[in-house]
Amino acid sequence: MRKATIISIGDELILGQTVDTNSAWLASRLAEFGVRATRHVTVADDREAIGAALKAVVGDSGLVILSGGLGPTADDVTRFALADGAGVELRVHAPSVERLRAFFAARSRDLPEANLIQAQIPETGTALVNTCGTAPGIYMRIDGTPVFALPGVPHELREMFAREVAPVLTETAVGNVIRSTCVQTFGLPEAEIGRRLSDLMERERIPQVGTTAAFGLIGVRINARSASAEAAHEMLDATRTEIEQRLGRYAFGRDDDTLASVVGRALRAVGQTLATAESCTGGLIGAQLTEVPGSSDYYVGSVVCYANHVKEKMLGVPAELLAAHGAVSEQVAEAMVAGCAARFQTDYSLAVTGIAGPTSDNSEKPVGLVFIGLSDGSATDVRKHLFGADQPRHAIRLRAAYSALNLLRLRLLDA
Ligand code: AMP
Ligand code: MG
Repeated sequence: MRKATIISIGDELILGQTVDTNSAWLASRLAEFGVRATRHVTVADDREAIGAALKAVVGDSGLVILSGGLGPTADDVTRFALADGAGVELRVHAPSVERLRAFFAARSRDLPEANLIQAQIPETGTALVNTCGTAPGIYMRIDGTPVFALPGVPHELREMFAREVAPVLTETAVGNVIRSTCVQTFGLPEAEIGRRLSDLMERERIPQVGTTAAFGLIGVRINARSASAEAAHEMLDATRTEIEQRLGRYAFGRDDDTLASVVGRALRAVGQTLATAESCTGGLIGAQLTEVPGSSDYYVGSVVCYANHVKEKMLGVPAELLAAHGAVSEQVAEAMVAGCAARFQTDYSLAVTGIAGPTSDNSEKPVGLVFIGLSDGSATDVRKHLFGADQPRHAIRLRAAYSALNLLRLRLLDA
């Protein structure tokens, strides 16, 4: 089972209205088990088209994974195409009917008639339990090839893959296991990371090291291929330790760590709290912080102070200061963070004011100019950033949010 084909199903994918993230996710997960996705196929919500795609690939794929088309509406036809492919009929799978009933009962709703189709499984197929949605998956063999049909909703697909597909792959994985890890960095340009890690990033080296960049966040990804998961992990650990040493404080975490989760962990460790005052980021910092479960332990809240009068009324920024220097100024950032600290009474406060673009209200101030203030209750520190007038609005806002969290991260490291 070393070669797999991924078939994603949906008119919205074909039309480009939805980006096919399932195929990318599946391919990278398969690789971890030493299974190479050698083909990605995208087909419309069409019984014949899905059938033709299946027929074309089952012969020379060790494994086929489909996603999508298991919903309750007329355009969801994957189950019919699977039955066609195996030359069998659909039949009602009673436990799936019961699961559907329970799903709706838990929400105080009657089971809609339309959803019953989701309990119809090809005669030679097995229903795969969906723990977080209505569509059961389907496992069956077509011309001897194992075929998994998973729901299109990404979080349902991931959950079902972990529970139903991964164990099968583990059983059959031999010899060619791929494991990856990532060192998360912020603040060092990609070229400088490349310089510091040049020998580790040589193309022939094993494990492979490469970078990915998004809005100042640079991930250093390490991929190891080995005979066993243990051996792959050993290789990863050694290279990761070396990378972390060379990047020092710029390396802030690993794998799923985010600036917000790392800052949160540091605050929790010392029992301290944080509040924010956000102008140009409009709540992005608060959103990132509260994405982390349990963040109420250390994050108390935010003033989204977009208008000047909100900066005045909610944060006590003097009107004269706003008039004299403009809302995007070092002075106003300092007053914002002082006002935030005074009102929220937290150990730390962050404030952001800047010009996200695409136009500036002030010919002297370029798009991308952002001031970030940090207060620890007694002292304040204001940093000026120029993220670049050529950058799109969302990039400037994200960089501002990350830079604010990073400023606090570094302060906590020194505390
Ligand atoms: P379906 O199971 O086809 O009804 O898909 C349910 C929903 O999942 C769709 O409305 C899409 O928003 C989403 N979806 C389906 N396929 C994909 C895919 N390949 N990548 C990302 N999202 C998808
Ligand atoms: Mg669909």
